[in-house]
Amino acid sequence: GEKGLIVSFGEMLIDFVPTESGVSLAEAPGFLKAPGGAPANVAIAVSRLGGRSAFVGKLGDDEFGHMLAGILRKNGVADQGINFDTGARTALAFVTLRADGDREFMFYRNPSADMLLRPDELNLDLIRSAKVFHYGSISLIVEPCRSAHLKAMEVAKEAGALLSYDPNLREPLWPSKEEAKTQIMSIWDKAEIIKVSDVELEFLTGSNKIDDDTAMSLWHPNLKLLLVTLGEKGCRYYTKSFKGSVDPFHVNAVDTTGAGDSFVGALLNQIVDDQSVLENEERLRKVLRFANACGAITTTKKGAIPALPSDAEVRSFLEG
Ligand code: ADP
Repeated sequence: GEKGLIVSFGEMLIDFVPTESGVSLAEAPGFLKAPGGAPANVAIAVSRLGGRSAFVGKLGDDEFGHMLAGILRKNGVADQGINFDTGARTALAFVTLRADGDREFMFYRNPSADMLLRPDELNLDLIRSAKVFHYGSISLIVEPCRSAHLKAMEVAKEAGALLSYDPNLREPLWPSKEEAKTQIMSIWDKAEIIKVSDVELEFLTGSNKIDDDTAMSLWHPNLKLLLVTLGEKGCRYYTKSFKGSVDPFHVNAVDTTGAGDSFVGALLNQIVDDQSVLENEERLRKVLRFANACGAITTTKKGAIPALPSDAEVRSFLEG
């Protein structure tokens, strides 16, 4: 039969990456366009692995917005959930690693089109047809996209979708740390799958100890699976009845952008049609090994979207 639909909700934007590293934004001789946005990366990760994927969000009715929608379509992501705003422009980010090692960010978001998605614009039929509804990142920051986010979650949940959340904290975008934490925790107890990085675990718990007690302090009764990704150290998983680690793959990482999104896309694609995996540790470990492989492969190439692997690539990586 047809595979279950995975709907990813949130922002899509273009990162402008300097053609030279180790310089400040003002000194950059030029920029390369790197399309991204965590939920959009997840949508493409799913479809590249052979899954059925749709994206819900808003883009500017401008050159960049149509370029991004085209990238989703070209990658097999259904586009009926995309709205175009005729007033505001597509979100842009300028990100550079300076010579002193600090990251420098500049955003065009005042407001960008993604922030203007309204609840009444949502394609509810599409959202209701989701088997898995994934969300995260920065759409809780401001109205009206915050209300759109909450409504989409509610509609998906009512229609029986499994909710998946990756807070994907980009701290410089939030007015304050406290605000970020408050907003993230305000939807914490809705999701059945949550993935955080070790950095987010520290941020959300306020603890500098990355251990089981710290992770389990984030547990809530609706949760079926809590994942903590540890970069080159692999991941840890927690369910009601078991917990453990899955070892990483050792690769020559050149750019870790998108590794977490690749990991999440791989996980969701493998459980969408058989959620009983979440109750079977041996099968879950296999799924997470595959997800770790996807994350690792993604770090071996520059950029997020160009580095997301196909199913065939992952299989040959795992055999090789
Ligand atoms: P995020 O991008 O959300 O911070 P991580 O960086 O932890 O997430 O990456 C997600 C997953 O990708 C990790 O759990 C791991 O399996 C894999 N991964 C990330 N970085 C590396 C790396 N340098 N080497 C091998 N695997 C990696």
